[in-house]
Amino acid sequence: MSGPFAHRKAINRRPVGVCVSFQLVQPATPDEAVGLLAKAPAGEISVLGGGTDLLFDIDQGRASPRQVLSLRKLPWRYARWEGATLVVGSTLPLRALEMDRRVQQQLPGLWEAIRDVGSPALRSRATLGGNVGRCAPASDLLPMLIALDARVRILGPSGVREHPIDLVLQESRKTSLGPAELIESIIFPSAAPSCYVWQRVQPVNDISQVGVATAFLPDAPHWRIALGGLQPRARRLSEAEAVLRSARPTHLEQELAAQEAARRAEFVTDRRATESYRRRLVAVMVRRALQTTVERMPGPRGPRKAAR
Ligand SMILES: Cc1cc2nc3c(=O)[nH]c(=O)nc-3n(C[C@H](O)[C@H](O)[C@H](O)COP(=O)(O)OP(=O)(O)OC[C@H]3O[C@@H](n4cnc5c(N)ncnc54)[C@H](O)[C@@H]3O)c2cc1C
Repeated sequence: MSGPFAHRKAINRRPVGVCVSFQLVQPATPDEAVGLLAKAPAGEISVLGGGTDLLFDIDQGRASPRQVLSLRKLPWRYARWEGATLVVGSTLPLRALEMDRRVQQQLPGLWEAIRDVGSPALRSRATLGGNVGRCAPASDLLPMLIALDARVRILGPSGVREHPIDLVLQESRKTSLGPAELIESIIFPSAAPSCYVWQRVQPVNDISQVGVATAFLPDAPHWRIALGGLQPRARRLSEAEAVLRSARPTHLEQELAAQEAARRAEFVTDRRATESYRRRLVAVMVRRALQTTVERMPGPRGPRKAAR
């Protein structure tokens, strides 16, 4: 295939709207869930978090599981602070994080990214675990998770392992999780001045053409810039980060970082936007996100600009 849609993969689809039947299983404990996944024949079982992606895929004929394993009864619907570290259970609906004032104040970029997912109704079901599991290139959350150096705790047949988000994400619908593994929680190591900005055709229930996440972390190297809307997935732009040498970079440094981001980002043309449009957007968006992050640095009277 060539032309603007050359990036699309051929998918063997069932006709849209044709009913499929599957068996719903609802394990009561994480170990039971992992055991059921380990026993299921390859490709026959799908994991259901909030279901906003999975059920859409089933409806659209992109998935036809014989069994659906719901995580609903597992004890993973929590968000807890351990000092400055935020641990979010993978099945907590996004809406709960959006309503959490401490998340809004201490991780403003994460709060903005969450608030911008779909609609309030969608966020009442959609989960952080599902967003990582889907690994959509246009996800609004993944750039922010990358910028905040989030870690993913994974439960599987041989116990628990923990990895930086960057090592878990691979490409659309593909992560480094094994077939019998589940995301248990996502860990944000520290509070951070941060910002998330996006560009879409419609503000609600649309997919972002470009998403820019910026954060200033307590440990060096401090600055993070991550982009969404890239193929095959969101990623950091270390070359643009390297331009920023202090907590309050000058306008010139911010401008240089924005230009570097526009030069380095590996955008493609797809049905949402052309490569050149994305490149033009990103320069403006990086500048805006950096400026807002700087304004959120704590001063004697707190940050000058809070997330709204
Ligand atoms: C109308 C609409 C608008 C949307 N708007 C946005 C938007 O603005 N921004 C955005 O980023 N996304 C958007 N989305 C996508 C979707 O809502 C998010 O990706 C959501 O976070 C997915 O979470 P979920 O719990 O519903 O995932 P599910 O559909 O339950 O699961 C998604 C995938 O992850 C796997 N999975 C789920 N939980 C786990 C787990 N704990 N461990 C391992 N694997 C798991 C599932 O097997 C599945 O493959 C939109 C979707 C729709 C339908």
